[in-house]
Amino acid sequence: MIERTLVILKPSALQRGLVGEVTHRFERKGLRLAGMKMMQLTDHLLDEHYAHLINKPFFQRVKDSMMAAPVIACCIEGVDAVQTVRTLAGPTNGRLAAPGTIRGDYSMSVQENIIHTSDSPENAAVELTRFFKPEEMFAYKQVAFDYLYATD
Ligand code: GDP
Ligand code: MG
Repeated sequence: MIERTLVILKPSALQRGLVGEVTHRFERKGLRLAGMKMMQLTDHLLDEHYAHLINKPFFQRVKDSMMAAPVIACCIEGVDAVQTVRTLAGPTNGRLAAPGTIRGDYSMSVQENIIHTSDSPENAAVELTRFFKPEEMFAYKQVAFDYLYATD
């Protein structure tokens, strides 16, 4: 099943010069970039995006961290893209994330963990609508598609 998912390259990725490194990993994996833009996040947008954290003591700190510099929002597409991108990212705590994952290779923190990735196809659809206009996500033929996926 071809899915789309939201990836946000957080301020920690920009400040540490990791935008290319992280984007490269998705490209090399064979995922298709359907949308990409730099944004300055706002308190209001983050109240929605991180609504599941609203009662956590670190809620304001996480929001401040996400507003400390611009971010790069990406729409990434592929078969099972939501889970595949989560697997490439690794678990939330960069110190516990396995080497080879993005967080495992580039993060020493829970909060400053380089990227956001949607956690389910349902949430991916909601999040993509929140961050992208329809015309900012592009459908085009990925020339390597048949070589990437074959039949299963
Ligand atoms: P994710 O799906 O792996 O990004 O994790 P969550 O959805 O649970 O949390 C969203 C983001 O909040 C994480 O990526 C971290 O940046 C931050 N976060 C989560 N837990 C903590 C925590 O215990 N302390 C702090 N400071 N930030 C946290
Ligand atoms: Mg999450």
